[in-house]
Amino acid sequence: MNVLVSPKTASAHIANARPLVRTVIVGHVDHGKSTLIGRLLHETGNIPDGKLDSIKAVSGRRGMPFEWSFLLDALQTERDQGITLDTSQIRFRTPSRDIVLIDAPGHAEFLRNMITGASQADAALLIIDAAEGVRDQTRRHGYLLHLLGIHQVAVVINKMDRVGFDEQRFHEIEAEIVSYLAGFGLTATAIIPISARNGDGVAQRTPSIAWHTGPTVLDVLDHFSPAKPLADLPLRIPVQAVYKFDDRRIIAGRIETGRVAVGDEIAFSPRGTTARIQSIEEWPVPDESRIPRRARAGQSVGLTLDRQIFVDRGDVISAAHMPSMSVDRLRARVFWLHDQPLAKGASVNVRVAMSECRGTVAMIENVVDPGRLSASGTATIAQNHVGEIEIALAHPIAADLYAVNPRTGRLVLELAGRISGGGLVLAVDAQAHQSGRATSGVARDLRSEKEALTAQASRLSDLLKELSPGDRLACFRDAVGGKITFTTSFGLEDQVILHLLSEQAIDVDVATLDTGRLFPETYELWAETEQRYGRRIRAIYPRHDALETLVDKFGINGFYESREARSACCHVRKVEPLNRALNGAAAWIVGLRADQSGHRQGTGLVAVDDRNLLKLSPLFDWSRDAVHAFALAHHIPINPLHTKNFLSIGCAPCTRAVAPGEPERAGRWWWEQDEKKECGLHLVRAGSAAHPHPEAIPSAR
Ligand code: SF4
Repeated sequence: MNVLVSPKTASAHIANARPLVRTVIVGHVDHGKSTLIGRLLHETGNIPDGKLDSIKAVSGRRGMPFEWSFLLDALQTERDQGITLDTSQIRFRTPSRDIVLIDAPGHAEFLRNMITGASQADAALLIIDAAEGVRDQTRRHGYLLHLLGIHQVAVVINKMDRVGFDEQRFHEIEAEIVSYLAGFGLTATAIIPISARNGDGVAQRTPSIAWHTGPTVLDVLDHFSPAKPLADLPLRIPVQAVYKFDDRRIIAGRIETGRVAVGDEIAFSPRGTTARIQSIEEWPVPDESRIPRRARAGQSVGLTLDRQIFVDRGDVISAAHMPSMSVDRLRARVFWLHDQPLAKGASVNVRVAMSECRGTVAMIENVVDPGRLSASGTATIAQNHVGEIEIALAHPIAADLYAVNPRTGRLVLELAGRISGGGLVLAVDAQAHQSGRATSGVARDLRSEKEALTAQASRLSDLLKELSPGDRLACFRDAVGGKITFTTSFGLEDQVILHLLSEQAIDVDVATLDTGRLFPETYELWAETEQRYGRRIRAIYPRHDALETLVDKFGINGFYESREARSACCHVRKVEPLNRALNGAAAWIVGLRADQSGHRQGTGLVAVDDRNLLKLSPLFDWSRDAVHAFALAHHIPINPLHTKNFLSIGCAPCTRAVAPGEPERAGRWWWEQDEKKECGLHLVRAGSAAHPHPEAIPSAR
């Protein structure tokens, strides 16, 4: 299947750079993907004028009822007349996004394209037929999304007209798919009942699905987070060549991610050397006034340095404070293309960006046949199968984890001179280089994603600690690729952070957990804050089925009765919704201060939480008085309860005013005698939170 965009739309896209979200549509082959795509193009006004009428007329003449999928066939035909932009990607606009809808012709092709970098998706729609329910292929495709690290997944339950728009049937399928996805830690962004054929739930909530209070497909597409622009990721320039001109040496390469400017201190991996950029060269030589001072991702540049150091093709240039890693052993998830299976001990050529090196396959595990998504149980990876391998490299090369930088975290494997596979770097055995200088000795540990993030958190903490909170936020935004979510509970610190984010227009997602038990004052402050800063604050609600079960079991105020009931309530109303709020995020901003509690002192300015998210607390080293003074000085709206000695304001039944001299956290869960007042919001592992053991949730927030 193939497609199209109206020429009108294409030119508009070029004129206005809007957030672009690549969304793959997956699901069982007969569950209505083409119908949904056709309907979406129609509902979003992306069909060329007159096209729909002419297809309907042709259908009528042939005595066939019109099907939305005909639209795609017709547009595919036009592709041959030169209208289509791409053979498997459908481009259209929603009110605030440009969408590239990737129709996966088959899961093996999709997997191969994603892993080898031929196409990339930031989000996914998983489609299920309401009458047929969850099928094997649905499960396979859900698992593929997990395998590829796609976190933004909306489930679309189609053909609701075939089951009489039965809400009960919808909830049955919802429960099944939610539980299946939760098995590998995936939480759906939304579950949407639709009839693509009739239009219900695609762009509008029609009377047939009046019971559905969630978003439509169009709403979801319009709120998927785009991938971070390549220019906003950390700097990476694979060196293509080094030229000698007169007495200058010019280092040439394409900026894969990030930006550079004359005067920047840069590091060369895997060498660990550093230098400053003396000039950015351009040919033909421009006149003095047009000599470039800076460049960004996508541009090819020639750099001269302020000192003579050895640089070679394959080296990777990074900002000195955030260098690429020097890697001599790595673990990757690979898609194998060669007809000769990949076996342990095989000698392969490994390419990462411009680096190239011989490597020996030291280990193979988790081999999966994507056709069945069953473990193959073999120690080799057959053609078109996926597996995880460890490769010992003949010498160190520069690389990143795929989760940190998709451009330099992807590898190509060659066997006997032929491209034979592609993969994503999952973990590396790295030689540590701090700020571009090799540390004494070589730290050789299999560095997991967590460890790499911990090293990044430590570097960021050093970098940010001397900055103001506003500059910390801006710098953090620059340093971190992907979505950053700020979770606010409208506390004093949260209000100051939101003010700083808004003042500098820093691009982060802002979300709040509406537990359903907040103070009326908090709801009023929420509305006032949205108005003051002109932005929507995304509300995350508890799952209604979990809430009903909770109240059935413990009663509406059961949390007063036992630690177990309190933990369960916090889990349903806060912890699970928080995991949903952070779904798809690379980093998290919170309003913690070190002096709030003993536990919080141990967290640090930038930390890594159990979800493997970088967590920034920009007010970490501020006192409450300093935050309060800042809020007053900047006329930031704050909760009136603060003036009545409510310090930490959470759910109304669980919060009281604090008496003079009492610690700040004493107002939370005052009936529990416990020093450590943390509810688990900041502590519980994302994966374990789907079905937490009550004991896993610490005692109080
Ligand atoms: Fe429930 Fe109280 Fe926790 Fe709010 S703070 S989620 S009401 S136990």
